[in-house]
Amino acid sequence: MPELPEVETTRRGLEPHLQGRRIHGVILRRPDLRWPIPPDIERALPGQRIAAIRRRAKYLLLDTDAGSALLHLGMSGSLRVLPGDTPVRAHDHVDISLEDGRLLRFNDPRRFGCLLWQPPGETHELLRGLGPEPLDAAFDGDYLFARSRGRSAPVKSFLMDQRIVVGVGNIYAAESLFMAGINPLREAGKVSRERYQRLATAVKDILGYAITRGGTTLRDFISPDGAPGYFEQELSVYGREGQACVRCGRPLRHASIGQRASVWCGHCQR
Ligand SMILES: [Zn+2]
Repeated sequence: MPELPEVETTRRGLEPHLQGRRIHGVILRRPDLRWPIPPDIERALPGQRIAAIRRRAKYLLLDTDAGSALLHLGMSGSLRVLPGDTPVRAHDHVDISLEDGRLLRFNDPRRFGCLLWQPPGETHELLRGLGPEPLDAAFDGDYLFARSRGRSAPVKSFLMDQRIVVGVGNIYAAESLFMAGINPLREAGKVSRERYQRLATAVKDILGYAITRGGTTLRDFISPDGAPGYFEQELSVYGREGQACVRCGRPLRHASIGQRASVWCGHCQR
């Protein structure tokens, strides 16, 4: 599933091809993805100039004067910029054609992605109430410490709560807690300020590194035959239950925390 780094990598890959370009037309090959595609998309976008392509959490926004197209890649979605005469393949659900003759094509085999509409000046309900971006300065140890007081939920569930901070999925939560030496089952309200400072730094380092790595696959976004450009993770704990801890060599523990598979080292994470 595309996580925040893949979505940011997608945004960076698309930006030079989309920003400032005028939209020629929109082709919807089905009326819905995860949710119905609003008719405003077909009505309002043609003729508009793409002022910016932004990311908020795992959503991408194509900003125009008429409003913003709001995209989510879901479980299996990908976006690519292609020559206008590229043959349509299975699961190519949406084309946004540009006046330069190319098109932005959305492919999504499992259709958990979405294409929605946000009028100018509004914030779509899906974006309301979201916590800060993990790479922004507003997200730090003091913030996590303040928000966690009085909370008895496991720190891993707290870190994955989109109202606390966006885009820290299961993989990145597990890896960040390992890097910070915090047991994922510990009550969020009982983690010290100093340890939250380590955790915030770990989240930023791990997501930032993943985005940097993703940058190596950017060319795939303009290749008709290229893979979507997601990259292999280098993982210390996620998916390694029962294997040796990379730090101390003891077998890693695993359990379900908040219905999510969780792996950690009982020795290195307290
Ligand atoms: Zn260990």
